[in-house]
Amino acid sequence: MKRVLILGGGFGGVYTALTLEKLLGDTKDVEIALVNRENYIVFQPMLPEVISGSIGLVDTITPIRRLCPRTNLYTRAVETIDLERRCITATAGFGSRMHSLTFDHLVIALGNVTSFTGQPGLMEHALPFKYLGDALAIRNRIIHVLEEADIEPDPEIRRALLTFVVAGGGFSGVEAVAEMNDFVRAAAKSFRHLDRREIRVVLLHSGSLILPELPSSLAQFAQRLLAKRGVELRSDTRLAGATADAALLEGGERITTRTLVSTVPAAPNPLVATLPVKKEHGRIVVDGHLEVPGQPGVWALGDCAWVIDAKTGEACPPTAQHATRQAAYLARNLVATLRGGAREAFSFKALGKMGSLGHRSAVADIMGVKISGFLAWWLWRTIYLMKLPGLDRKIRVATDWTLDLILPLDIVQLKTGPSMAVRREHFEPGMTICREGDRGDWLYVIVNGEVEVSRSVPGRGDVALNRLGPGECFGEIAMVREGPRNATVKSLSSVDVVAVDREAFGTLFSHLPALKGFVEALIQERLDQAPPSPH
Ligand SMILES: Cc1cc2nc3c(=O)[nH]c(=O)nc-3n(C[C@H](O)[C@H](O)[C@H](O)COP(=O)(O)OP(=O)(O)OC[C@H]3O[C@@H](n4cnc5c(N)ncnc54)[C@H](O)[C@@H]3O)c2cc1C
Repeated sequence: MKRVLILGGGFGGVYTALTLEKLLGDTKDVEIALVNRENYIVFQPMLPEVISGSIGLVDTITPIRRLCPRTNLYTRAVETIDLERRCITATAGFGSRMHSLTFDHLVIALGNVTSFTGQPGLMEHALPFKYLGDALAIRNRIIHVLEEADIEPDPEIRRALLTFVVAGGGFSGVEAVAEMNDFVRAAAKSFRHLDRREIRVVLLHSGSLILPELPSSLAQFAQRLLAKRGVELRSDTRLAGATADAALLEGGERITTRTLVSTVPAAPNPLVATLPVKKEHGRIVVDGHLEVPGQPGVWALGDCAWVIDAKTGEACPPTAQHATRQAAYLARNLVATLRGGAREAFSFKALGKMGSLGHRSAVADIMGVKISGFLAWWLWRTIYLMKLPGLDRKIRVATDWTLDLILPLDIVQLKTGPSMAVRREHFEPGMTICREGDRGDWLYVIVNGEVEVSRSVPGRGDVALNRLGPGECFGEIAMVREGPRNATVKSLSSVDVVAVDREAFGTLFSHLPALKGFVEALIQERLDQAPPSPH
C-alpha cells in the first residue's frame, strides 16, 4: 500500500485530501494520511466575527474527520521532515514520545506563521491574529480591559486600557480593527462608569493606503468608513516594538495601550524554513504541477508554496481561494502520477476580493466590478456562507447571524488559559518594572540589558542601591518574605527578563534546597548592603 502523507490541515491540506478521496474512491492500494496540530480546519475569513461574537466560537471550524472520512488523521505537531529518508516525525499527544511516519508522496501545506522575531517586545506583548485561539484571546482581552477600565480611578492607566492598536492594513488587520471597533464601542454601553469618548482604536499601516490588494477607490472608501466610525488611521507608520503598556512606533513615538494586535509580518513556517529545497520569499518553489523540482513525490501548495500561474506567469498570492484551487490540481496531478495519466499546469483567475468592514458594510472587487457598502456586505456573507465547509456549520453560522440581529451583545469573559508560571517580558529604557510597596508576585531574571534598584528614604527621596545585569535576578525578597516590594526597579536600557510567578517560584523554593540556599544568601547580602526599608 502506498501512503500519501499531507502535512497541514488548512485550506491547502484538507482540500487536497477531499479531492484525493473523490478521485481514489474506495481503492485499498493508497492510504491518505493527514497530520495537523488541531483536529479541525479553521475558516479564517470569518475569524474577525468571532472577536465581536457575531459568530459563535466553534462555528467557524469544522472537524477534519467529518469532512474527510476516508483520511487517516494524525492530530499531532510535525517536528521534522526528512526528504532523503522519506519520513516525518511528530510528537505524540500525551508525553513527548516521537512518532515516525514514512511516505511515498508528501504534500506540504503547512501555511505561514506570524513572526514577531526582530521586533523587541512583540512576542511577549502583542496578540497575533491567525488562528481560532487568537480570536478568542483578543475578544477576552477587550472584555478584560473594559472590566478594568470601568473601576480604574487613574486617568493615565484608564487611557491605556481604553486604547486598542492594530498593526497591519491588509485584509486581516482591517477586518480585525473593524470588528474590534464595533465590539468595543457597543460593549462599553454595558459598563456603568465608562465614558465612550475615552475609547481610542488605532490602525497602523506601513503604506499610504490600506487594503493595497484592492483598487484605490475601494481602499479609500474603506478608510473613510473606518474613520467615520472612530478608527484613527495612522498611514506610513510602522510598529517597531512593544512593552506591556505601549505600542512603540518607528521614529520613537509610543502609544500607551494594553491591547496591541499585530497581523504582520507573515513569515515562513519554521519547518519549511529548514527544508533543503529552493525557496522564494521563504516559500517552497514548485513546478507548474505543484511538485518540488528535484524531489519526485514531494508536493507543496498554499501559503507555504511559491506557485507560478501557468497563464499569467505571476506568483499566486497567499489566499484561501488559491490554496483550494491548487489543492484540486495537486490531487489530480498526484493521482495521474500514481495511476499514469496527463498532468495539468496550475492556472486560476481569482474571482474577486472582498473585505468586511463590520456594521453591515464591506468592500468587494468581483470580476472587475467594484462594490461597497451594504450590497458588498450581503455578498460577502452569502459567498462565505456558501464556502464554509460542512452543512451543519453553515446552519450554525446562519443562525448566529440571525440571533445577532435580535439578541444583546455578549460580554462574558472566558478565563480559559492556564495561568502563566514563567513568561518573558520586554521593557524599554526608563520603565518601572516593579514598584516599592506593590505586592511581590513575580521574580525576574535579567536576560539582557541593565536595571537600577532604588528605594525611597525619608528626607533623601529615591536612593539608588544597585545596578543589575544579565544573569542576575530581583524581586525575590517580597516573594520569600510574603511582604510588599521593598525597592523599585527601573530599566536603564532596553531590557528582556524571564518572570517566574509566585506559585512556580514557591514550589521550586520549597523543594530545591540548592535554590533555597542561593536565594536566602542573596537576600541576606542585599539586606546587609541596603538602607532599611519603610516596608
Ligand atoms: C484573519 C484572516 C482572514 C483571512 N481572510 C481571507 C479571505 O477572506 N479570503 C481568502 O482567500 N483568504 C483569506 N485569508 C488567507 C487564508 O486563510 C490563507 O491563505 C489560507 O488559510 C492558506 O491555506 P494553507 O493551507 O496554505 O495554510 P493554513 O490554512 O494556515 O493551514 C496550515 C495548517 O498547518 C498546520 N500546521 C502548521 N505547522 C504545523 C506543524 N508543525 N505540525 C502540525 N500542523 C501544523 C496549522 O495548524 C494549519 O492547520 C485570511 C487569513 C487570515 C489569517
